[in-house]
Amino acid sequence: MITEPFGYHAPKSLSEAVRLVAQFGADGKVLAGGHSLIPLMKLRLASPKHLVDIGGISDLSYIREDGDEIQIGATTTHFRIESSDLLKTKCPLLPETAGEIGDAQVRNKGTMGGSLAHSDPAGDWPAAILALDAEIQAVSARGERWIPAREFFVDLLATALKGDEILTAIRLPALPSRAGDAYLKLHHPASGFAVVGAAARLVLGENGSIERAALGITGIGPKAYRAAAVESALAGKSPTTKRLEEASAHAADGVDANSDLYASAEYRSHLARVYTRRAIEKALERAQERTDGR
Ligand SMILES: Cc1cc2nc3c(=O)[nH]c(=O)nc-3n(C[C@H](O)[C@H](O)[C@H](O)COP(=O)(O)OP(=O)(O)OC[C@H]3O[C@@H](n4cnc5c(N)ncnc54)[C@H](O)[C@@H]3O)c2cc1C
Repeated sequence: MITEPFGYHAPKSLSEAVRLVAQFGADGKVLAGGHSLIPLMKLRLASPKHLVDIGGISDLSYIREDGDEIQIGATTTHFRIESSDLLKTKCPLLPETAGEIGDAQVRNKGTMGGSLAHSDPAGDWPAAILALDAEIQAVSARGERWIPAREFFVDLLATALKGDEILTAIRLPALPSRAGDAYLKLHHPASGFAVVGAAARLVLGENGSIERAALGITGIGPKAYRAAAVESALAGKSPTTKRLEEASAHAADGVDANSDLYASAEYRSHLARVYTRRAIEKALERAQERTDGR
């Protein structure tokens, strides 16, 4: 299908983009990689009168290390994250997650900021961003603010971004010592999106027990979430097989699981438990390897 007619604007600076977004209000939409917005416009599920294309603002695309933190610009593509040597060393969960998104074409055009702003319930980034306790920067004519990932995903396709705000950056802690990460995903056979995706970060104590566990889960409910009950069942405990199994059983606690032709709510909840256990096991194995210097 063909979109409704729209005006196209390509600002060269963030301040110009912010001004255009404020000017168009509800009639405008930010365009990044276009890999979620353009399909919606073709289906006429979205019909903005103006698109503000932020793809030409060069200082929104970067990956930087700043002390123990990593900062990523909003228009950084999935592929650039997947192939970043810095991230492979400092925050390997990000390249691992990026490599699970769509196909090469999607990864070459789609952006981390666009994916987070879109907040697809089966998108991959929200799980990783939650597990890493990231913060998301929003800029408008009123100034800038940093939103914790836990407060960012509000509901189905809804985030804490206000209508006049542009998502400009994501910042997150690098992988600490004695820690391991993992992202495991069951791909939908038709769309490739996550039927379930589980992102885990485990930090071990000096005695090998789990000092801290963080779990972000996508694909199950209307929005990605932190599996708090799993995390508290693991914190301070030694990582026995039985304990990992018992903790993972809480992966879908309190979540109103989606149901569709491919997966019933019951099956999705089961998948959440299985993929959570596998992600924790993988993160643990990696944390132990790093701790042992293997
Ligand atoms: C065939 C196909 C397969 C895919 N498979 C997967 C998959 O397996 N996993 C997955 O996670 N995703 C998948 N995607 C989605 C893809 O990752 C998109 O790139 C992503 O969801 C949106 O990013 P974008 O840069 O393309 O954003 P756009 O499509 O340009 O924008 C998406 C929405 O976010 C808003 N927006 C964008 N950037 C900003 C910003 N900086 N500030 C404020 N608002 C903004 C837009 O206004 C729009 O509402 C797939 C897409 C396609 C077409």
